Amino acid sequence: MIKCTVCGLREAFYVRRYSGEKLCVKCFLESIEGRVKATIAKYNMLRFNDRIAVAVSGGKDSTSLLYILAKIERDFPMASLYAITVDEGIMGYRDEAIEIASEHCRSLGVKHFVTSFKELYGYTLDDIVKRIRFSGSRLTPCSYCGVLRRKALNMLAAKIGATKIATAHNLDDEVQTFLLNIIHGDFLRISRTGPSFDEEEPGLVPRVKPLCETLEKEVALYAYLKGIRFQENPCPYAGEALRNDVRNMVNRLEEKHPGTKYKIYRSAEKIRGAVKDKSPRIPLNQCKICGEPTVSDICQACNLIQNI
Ligand code: SF4
Ligand code: ZN
Ligand code: ZN
Repeated sequence: MIKCTVCGLREAFYVRRYSGEKLCVKCFLESIEGRVKATIAKYNMLRFNDRIAVAVSGGKDSTSLLYILAKIERDFPMASLYAITVDEGIMGYRDEAIEIASEHCRSLGVKHFVTSFKELYGYTLDDIVKRIRFSGSRLTPCSYCGVLRRKALNMLAAKIGATKIATAHNLDDEVQTFLLNIIHGDFLRISRTGPSFDEEEPGLVPRVKPLCETLEKEVALYAYLKGIRFQENPCPYAGEALRNDVRNMVNRLEEKHPGTKYKIYRSAEKIRGAVKDKSPRIPLNQCKICGEPTVSDICQACNLIQNI
């Protein structure tokens, strides 16, 4: 029997290649919860009186994040926790995910709020996709979905009086986004995309990412070991070609050189710090159509909706 290198008592079932640790189930689970707590503390993500809205899609990352935050909240009942979900209107996919998310919230005793593209914009994502395919637009369903969901989450969080939105981006997501921003030379995004937003902007509920230092496969393993139900089927519109290629490339590097993902993550932190001081702070206006914060006169979401 190979013993756990942390407790030295139980049988190890998982080798953490980047650190060399061999972990038993208990120590593995505790290490994930400990990592999330450490990430929250390191970036000062949450204050004791925060009203935290966790963006729950029903996938493995968001259901695990809600589970861990609910556990932390039970141990230290300081902040209040809510779950928010956006129904994009993807038939046969999001409906199942929402049912899973609602059941998960019920079992954790967390109040769940849902909004939808249809309710906010008048169209489901399926409607939008039909229209853009008909018009021959070069934009992908994900480009619409990302922008519209971001605004929907902000609106719902503001409506319920949340002071933070916690999203379930994991370390792999962060590394991919950083590399994509490098590929596109988008230094403004590099400076603004990170574990937490420390600048307070009127009308924008600050976002935090408590899983941003946890590997995707370890989040999946956590969900599996805890018996958390989540939606496994991929979205029918998934397939942002470049992100997929970046993901595969980084996975290959990690396989050959364990620890590469953490190295890229730390490198992103350094570069973000350097770029932040040099990037101008752009004041936000109120969108002339919907009143949401925007860098232009009309927000990206209204722009997209007007042109479908
Ligand atoms: Fe939206 Fe694209 Fe994600 Fe599907 S894969 S939910 S279309 S962002
Ligand atoms: Zn152990
Ligand atoms: Zn707008």
